[in-house]
Amino acid sequence: MAANDRNNPKRQPSSDSTYSLMEFMREYPDDAACLDRLWRERFAPDGHHAACPKCERERKFHRVSTRACYACDSCGWQIYPTKGTIFQKSTTSLQLWFYAMYLMASTRCGISAKQLERELGVTYKTAWRMFNKIRNDLMGGDDEPLSGDVELDETSWGGHPRNTLPDRKAVAKFREAKPTILGMVERGGKVRLRVIPSRRGPALSREVRGNVNPAAIIFTPLSPPSLRRLGRWRPFGSLPLSAMVRASRARASE
Ligand SMILES: [Zn+2]
Repeated sequence: MAANDRNNPKRQPSSDSTYSLMEFMREYPDDAACLDRLWRERFAPDGHHAACPKCERERKFHRVSTRACYACDSCGWQIYPTKGTIFQKSTTSLQLWFYAMYLMASTRCGISAKQLERELGVTYKTAWRMFNKIRNDLMGGDDEPLSGDVELDETSWGGHPRNTLPDRKAVAKFREAKPTILGMVERGGKVRLRVIPSRRGPALSREVRGNVNPAAIIFTPLSPPSLRRLGRWRPFGSLPLSAMVRASRARASE
């Protein structure tokens, strides 16, 4: 058997992860790499050529070392890649912003502002502001219901129960007392995270009804009782994902 390359770990096909922290660090090792990503994403797909508004044609641009911008080689016109984005005028480094987005997008059901504060080493006020900017401006704060294929799951936030809890009933009580976060993800689209007062049916299904188009196909490991009140929605219970996909295909062709 070939030895594993410890610097290039291989992801198992069964892994849920698509982008690890190490991959993130390799792609965005510093602020310059993050700025370059915005530059390519918004203005210069090849990283060097962009439309210059002053020359009124495509020109070669170079990075200005003293400012977070790129300048036209011919006329000196400067383009700031963060202009008009949530990063504009922020005193927080771009890399921290990117890391916050990584954390919010990669954690299964999201992360709280309090957790961001700890992870990023910024003040709570800053973390809270970043959290809301990312959630509302990037993850879609509009009122359009999620449609198409929608994945649902919930988690309680605030640590695991200690081993000393006597039985399953006590564990359930412990979980019930903690805030519940409901994650709703439109495949290839918007993400909604909501804190709900209880994981029990009514609160959960009310939130789903308010955020998901009734025609959407729902994928969820949640057990039917917690979604019983969804009426015409028929979630697929705690089936493995492959079975849920089969069930949804069958349903889609009904
Ligand atoms: Zn120019």
